[in-house]
Amino acid sequence: MKYSDSQEKSGEFLRRTIPLMRKQTAAFHPISYAVWYEYVAGINPLLTASLDEMMKTGLVLDEEVTHSLYQKHIAEIDEEVAKRVSSGFQRVLADMSHSAAQAGDQAHKFGAALEQWSGGLGEDAGVGKLREDTQQMQGAIASLNGRLNQSQQEIERLRQEVSRARQDALADGLTGLTNRKGFDLAMASCLSSIETGVRGPSLLMTDIDFFKKVNDSYGHLFGDKVIRVVAQTLKDNVKGKDLAARYGGEEFVILLPDTPVEGARILAEKLRATVENGRIRRLDSNETIAKVTISLGVAAYRPGESAAEFIERADQALYASKTQGRNRVTVAQAN
Ligand code: GH3
Ligand code: MG
Ligand code: MG
Repeated sequence: MKYSDSQEKSGEFLRRTIPLMRKQTAAFHPISYAVWYEYVAGINPLLTASLDEMMKTGLVLDEEVTHSLYQKHIAEIDEEVAKRVSSGFQRVLADMSHSAAQAGDQAHKFGAALEQWSGGLGEDAGVGKLREDTQQMQGAIASLNGRLNQSQQEIERLRQEVSRARQDALADGLTGLTNRKGFDLAMASCLSSIETGVRGPSLLMTDIDFFKKVNDSYGHLFGDKVIRVVAQTLKDNVKGKDLAARYGGEEFVILLPDTPVEGARILAEKLRATVENGRIRRLDSNETIAKVTISLGVAAYRPGESAAEFIERADQALYASKTQGRNRVTVAQAN
């Protein structure tokens, strides 16, 4: 069970959460209560660090911030727990299944020995009963074994369902690329496992040029098609550990964990040229529209900087590409 505090202890936490929750604009619902309960109970260090940081800056938690804290620090951890519990179950079932198979084996041997032994005694009522009991025991063990196997399969199916649901939650519906949340997770894991002396990571950020005009001239559905085509170009050009994600409306990012900045610049230039030279057909006719272009910014990771700083520098390089005329690549200054 996740919360194991006594009634007395949890009552004290309840009293301490109320003044804290009063200071925020979010309502007093179970989600905000979970956030503040875990804070006062001191059982979620990452959540506590985030809240301390927010309170230091005087931020008042509205519904959105409260939900995102819950999502990031409580819901996801629950999912981790679910995964651990499921693999724990699998192990226990596998052990039980093994024991049942062994017991079945023993019963079978016992039955065979009994058969041999009773052969010399003729048909004795006591031995007949013993034989019958042994057969029943063998049957019960076989059916237990079957049920354990079924349970094991069911747990495996549920585990796959959780993993599929998790993948769906991290995918963008329109393009099939990883979404912003998936990208944030990948970035955090990339930065937490940086090896010294290895070059990279690099980050590439891109935004479709004059996209409002595309929507205005050809409609939102066609705009969606353009977003999908650009996403496909990104997909076609990344491989291995590289991750392309839809960052927002018509903005994309590519994280290149092992690529030095020059490699990232070459990739950016290739993407720029591919999109510029592509032709997209309208939905209702074969007419192709004026070319779509993208602007790009590239940044090399500076040791010690946060994910937000890294992204910000790639974004500034992208902004420079926009202000210098669009349809171009800008590399952020190394220092
Ligand atoms: P710039 O070259 O400066 O990037 O100009 P822009 O017109 O592309 O400007 P901006 O990036 O501000 O515009 C983005 C537009 O993208 C605004 C929004 O209506 C549109 N948009 C965002 N998401 C979607 C989407 O999923 N589908 C469609 N069709 N349009 C979207
Ligand atoms: Mg934009
Ligand atoms: Mg744009």
